[in-house]
Amino acid sequence: MNYNKILEKQIKKYLPAPLREDQGMNTFLAAISDYYASFERDKKIADHAFAISEKEYLEVVEDLRAQNELRQKSILQLKEAVMALDTGAMDNFNNTNQDIFYIIDFLKVQIAKSKEIENYLIQAKESAENASKAKSDFLSVMSHEIRTPLNAIIGYIYLLKNENPLPSQVEYLNILQISARNLLSLINDVLDFSKIEEGKIVFAESDFDIRELLNDVKLANKIAAQENNNMLKVMFDEDIPRFLKGDITRITQVLNNLVSNAIKFTKQGRVTIELQLKSVVGNSVEISFSVADTGIGISAENQKNIFNKFTQAHKYITREYGGSGLGLAIIKNLLQLMNSEIFVESTPGKGSRFYFSIWFDKAEFKPIDESKVAEQKEGFGGLKVLLVEDLEFNAVLAEKMLSRWNAHVTLAANGKIAVDKVRAEHFDLILMDVQMPVMDGLTASKEIRKFNTEIPIFPLTASTSTGLQKEFVDIGVSDFIFKPINPDNLHRTIFKHLAKAKRGEE
Ligand code: ADP
Repeated sequence: MNYNKILEKQIKKYLPAPLREDQGMNTFLAAISDYYASFERDKKIADHAFAISEKEYLEVVEDLRAQNELRQKSILQLKEAVMALDTGAMDNFNNTNQDIFYIIDFLKVQIAKSKEIENYLIQAKESAENASKAKSDFLSVMSHEIRTPLNAIIGYIYLLKNENPLPSQVEYLNILQISARNLLSLINDVLDFSKIEEGKIVFAESDFDIRELLNDVKLANKIAAQENNNMLKVMFDEDIPRFLKGDITRITQVLNNLVSNAIKFTKQGRVTIELQLKSVVGNSVEISFSVADTGIGISAENQKNIFNKFTQAHKYITREYGGSGLGLAIIKNLLQLMNSEIFVESTPGKGSRFYFSIWFDKAEFKPIDESKVAEQKEGFGGLKVLLVEDLEFNAVLAEKMLSRWNAHVTLAANGKIAVDKVRAEHFDLILMDVQMPVMDGLTASKEIRKFNTEIPIFPLTASTSTGLQKEFVDIGVSDFIFKPINPDNLHRTIFKHLAKAKRGEE
């Protein structure tokens, strides 16, 4: 029988041999041996448990030490931060546990202060927004109020010039025309810029003929070029697809502005508009535009500033050349909104070149039949036009222009009369003023659309409100005629519409 080792030793030492054979004694010794074994097991377990708790204890102590170190570091950093905010705070620290309470109090005050600042900023933002809205409302009202009389002035100058004035009167009429147009372009610039600043510019994409656009730009600047004895040249890369999608009005505006600047600052020289196909990716093309002149040029220093608003590069400019310094700022912003950037290179005394490129999608478009253009140029051959306008001088003016092109004009003094007239008889198209008593132009157009979805409606508006334009577009009316009515624009808009309608019939 094997007993516990210590017990074996004691048996050998103390128990007489005969007793070792005794059955009872052996049972007794086995019980003692078991007891020894379980005692040793318990001892081992106790030792193990003790070793573990000691390890844990050491870990906890280490942890506490690290935490304390971190806390001290944090407090130090907090103190530094507090002292950076308030240099006098040092006096309140005494490097005891109390410091943390001072820091907490300090932070409470800072949080309250920043809440106060936040509230103030919210209020300031609200009042800035209100002020900006008031400014935009003011501009919108003023634009209407200024454009309406300008409408009459520009229109009647046009009529007077066509009624065989005396040579001396022609000169006065030309001066009047230039002044009125300058005033109009100034108003348009200020309005455009404020719309850009408010992020209210909306681009209207449509299919257009890029050659026609270039012709329009050339035509619009022809007289000014002649006045300064400048040659105006257009270079067009034949690889450029003719029909593209884009905002034709804004692209024309950018080019017209650059070309009119080039002409303004060049005498007896050359102004070249050049379009090149830069790249083609799938259905999209990148076209580079360049407007170069041989004029007075811009110094390197001034080239940096001319794209800022109200900046002119030459001190004597306003007196000699006119302008507001807004044109290039508007161009830069418009191009940015079309994901493009404008650049300038110039040598004083030699000339300047402004250039940029724009991506367009190609458009499917049936070209206008040139023979029909010629046939239509004279007039509209008995076209039945309903002219809805409450202001008599505007009505007479538009009527005279339309009659000149052989249109047959019926007048309606407000929207309600117009609705009744369209119900009663056939018209080919409607020119609809927007602001009128009894029933305004938008309501009248909506009423007409309820029973006649076909008749073309051209809103006549002096307002540039994009909200209003959108409401018209929503009822399928998109050809706006802006006041003051430019006779050429009026003719072109109606003519284009007729050409389109003809193409639709084929
Ligand atoms: P504005 O022509 O109404 O003064 P712009 O913003 O169009 O305003 O132009 C800003 C300035 O840049 C002009 O006043 C002129 O000094 C300079 N500038 C612009 N285009 C030309 C050019 N083609 N040649 C010389 N100077 C130019």
